[in-house]
Amino acid sequence: WSKETVAVVTGANKGIGYAMVKRLSELGVTVILTARDNARGLKAVETLKGLGFDVFFHCLDISDHASILDFASWFKHQFGQLDILVNNAAISYNEIHENSVEHADEVIQTNYYGPKALIEALFPFFSRSMTTTRVLNLSSRLGLLNKLKNPEIKKILLYEEKLSEDLIDDIVKLFIDDVKKGQWKSRGWPENWTEYAVSKLALNAYSKVLANRYQGQGLSVNCFCPGYTQTSMTHGTGNYTADAAAELGVNIVLIPAKDLPTGKFFLRSSRGVY
Ligand code: NDP
Repeated sequence: WSKETVAVVTGANKGIGYAMVKRLSELGVTVILTARDNARGLKAVETLKGLGFDVFFHCLDISDHASILDFASWFKHQFGQLDILVNNAAISYNEIHENSVEHADEVIQTNYYGPKALIEALFPFFSRSMTTTRVLNLSSRLGLLNKLKNPEIKKILLYEEKLSEDLIDDIVKLFIDDVKKGQWKSRGWPENWTEYAVSKLALNAYSKVLANRYQGQGLSVNCFCPGYTQTSMTHGTGNYTADAAAELGVNIVLIPAKDLPTGKFFLRSSRGVY
């Protein structure tokens, strides 16, 4: 990997995103660290500089369409071509062993519509004809299909050839509607970290749709659940450090082209990554 390889990481002022920027930079990739807050982002860049890593910075709030367009325009003029996109930024209002549906709109907007809108905005810059562009969506096992008990919705998500962005958006709207009507429990949505789980369920499904659509056309889209990791999201609890999670994430985005899968969900557990 050389400086010619350009990577963008979202939500990278701390946690796994920050650690992924550090690791990619260590391996010689040109990295753009992005963060929704200018000051927090610049502080992270300064810390990395102190460690000997020179990275680029631009503000990017993935829940704000204007911010996404502003970033895409800056990227076009500064770099023009993107090899790696790590959709890492996400939010959760859940405490460990607690559940939340109060912030369903905001969580879905950030964790599902955010990465989706960013992929769409950066798509023209994906270097698909020269090398395979790699998109890695940080996801969660909480959003796996086995957490969904509703048979009709499960059927739609399982029928991959028919699955489309519109159908996924409809499912997400159905969830928001069920939350508003107070009937989400009886409708078989995931029981643990519900709003977060649905946002990742949608992200996983969208990743599959994209992967299938661009199969063999220079785009690889995979999801990665890093396992229970010690970050702000888990209040510092967890089985793995952010650096360890990032090392695995970077190993996935840098898989040699001949072995690079697409549409895969990489899951870290105590038994390894599979
Ligand atoms: P952190 O809470 O430590 O970091 C989340 C990052 O996302 C922060 O930099 C935060 O910025 C940023 N962010 C939040 N909202 C936005 C937004 N609208 N625009 C741009 N950036 C935003 O979480 P983790 O490092 O743990 O999580 C990284 C990824 O890994 C997430 O996708 C998460 O779902 C996933 N994951 C984490 C697990 C864990 O155990 N930690 C387990 C499974 C998956 P700010 O500092 O401004 O809030």
